[in-house]
Amino acid sequence: MSLVDQQSRTDPATRVSELLEIYAGPEASAAGLLCDRHPAEAHAYQVVGRDLSIQRLSYGELRTQSERFAAGLAELGVRPGDRVATLLGKSVEQLVALLGIWRAGAVQVPLFTAFAPPAVAMRLTASRAKVVLVDADQRPKLAREGPPEWRIVVVGGAGEPGDEDFAELMARQDKGFPAARLGGDAPLLHVFTSGTTGKPKALEVPVRALASFHCYMEFGLDVRPEDTFWNAADPGWSYGLYYGILGSFCTGVPSVLLRGGFSAELTFDVLSKLDVTNFAAAPTVYRSLRAAGPTTPRRLRLRAASAAGEPLTPEVNDWAREALGVPVHDHYGQTETGMLVNNHHHPALRRPLRSGSMGASMPGWTTVVLEEDADKRAAPEVAGRIACDVPASPLAWFRGYLDEPEKSREKFSEDKRWYLTGDSGYVDSDGYYRFVSRDDDIILMAGYRIGPFDVESVLVLHPDVGEAAVIAAPDEIRGEVLEAYVVLRDGRSASEELERELQQLVKTKYSAHAYPRRVHFVSELPKTPSGKIKRYVLRQRRRDGAGE
Ligand code: ATP
Ligand code: MG
Repeated sequence: MSLVDQQSRTDPATRVSELLEIYAGPEASAAGLLCDRHPAEAHAYQVVGRDLSIQRLSYGELRTQSERFAAGLAELGVRPGDRVATLLGKSVEQLVALLGIWRAGAVQVPLFTAFAPPAVAMRLTASRAKVVLVDADQRPKLAREGPPEWRIVVVGGAGEPGDEDFAELMARQDKGFPAARLGGDAPLLHVFTSGTTGKPKALEVPVRALASFHCYMEFGLDVRPEDTFWNAADPGWSYGLYYGILGSFCTGVPSVLLRGGFSAELTFDVLSKLDVTNFAAAPTVYRSLRAAGPTTPRRLRLRAASAAGEPLTPEVNDWAREALGVPVHDHYGQTETGMLVNNHHHPALRRPLRSGSMGASMPGWTTVVLEEDADKRAAPEVAGRIACDVPASPLAWFRGYLDEPEKSREKFSEDKRWYLTGDSGYVDSDGYYRFVSRDDDIILMAGYRIGPFDVESVLVLHPDVGEAAVIAAPDEIRGEVLEAYVVLRDGRSASEELERELQQLVKTKYSAHAYPRRVHFVSELPKTPSGKIKRYVLRQRRRDGAGE
């Protein structure tokens, strides 16, 4: 019986203990757990091309190919614990490479193909990667002068003199490379946070974190053996890597990987042609699908849809129920934890959705809201700091950032009991959580705490507005006031009248006093490659512009 089949047999607490036994023990082997324990003939992935061509991949094929790649890494001098970076698009080679890296006991450093060269260089230097695997078309992003022992393996085309060719390296190796067995505390990934609030922070993800990722796949997503699961996020950031790759390998759920970047039309095509039943994507994907307007009607088979990474704006579900046939369940998590709070899909935890709520604490985690300035639980409905009770969270695995003692200390209360997410929110008496804001983005106006998201959600209701970001601007009387940055939809133009209309909209739909004193019309908002708005950049620009 596969692991997915077991889920209905046990209650959440028992399942958490079972998962910890599987992934956190001293004998745990990442490649053994992620690949070798699945039946060789079991269907792992369908890798879909832009022309909708499909490459099917079984666990048996993944096993032999990744054995060859692990042997290739050993030939290049890679030993357990060494860092191997990947700058690869979504492909069969990426799946083989990741399993090969873990089979060799090495630690993967994900690099997003959307990164510009400086972002790639920062991560390679900070992680001290020994080998970099790179798609031929990404090769120019690597600096000519790497560290002396640096090896570059090029996939799918010619590299530069001295580079290894992936196909030739593989062809030289035999299968049969044994899976490293390093235990639950050994590092599996060396990842970086998204950099939404400043410089990205590095951390190690240990093998034992797979217990938490697996738990989310079962309870958050309710993946079933008969599902076709597609997490459309890129494995270059944690949502796509933890759940589009690791979660699929953990549970063995038949999964989909689409080559290349986002297109609304293609997303609908893949959902329909592959009969996807369980779909996961960032809110921005759903918003883009909605904005693409009515497309050719297609037959969809979706049973579950979910989003994470950013607030799920309420208009998405007004559209999704009809357009997708199911509402989108909002899920909340971080690179440092994986998912923490979900509108769970699993029947044992499923509850009616409440608009604007990201759901309830996940099994294995005790999420709480702490008072603003005391380390004790806030009363229901009172906004405070979203935190985790570490001793009461058996699935917690984050110990601190790499090379950042100060930032690591800030993530925990002094007595180490509470892990502080850095986000504000509140919980009602039924355990439904609501996200208010990242702590850095909170606006303090005349004693009121205002989350930009509430105001942004109103601004995007205006038919001319595509996107909006709201930040604090200093004010002598009120401490801070609001300013908005607005991107208009194609063909709409900025005017003072429109600025007044938007102010009026916020006054009537949100609050008479918390309206943006100024509306800046801009052509785009500063974002991370995964699409998160970097409000700190807007604050910086405003300061610089104002000469402060
Ligand atoms: P950095 O820590 O480098 O500034 P980041 O916090 O964006 O970047 P991630 O770990 O990718 O890096 O993102 C986690 C954050 O994303 C959460 O702390 C929260 O602010 C936001 N987030 C994730 N899911 C949700 C959600 N469902 N609703 C609202 N916000 C969310
Ligand atoms: Mg963060």
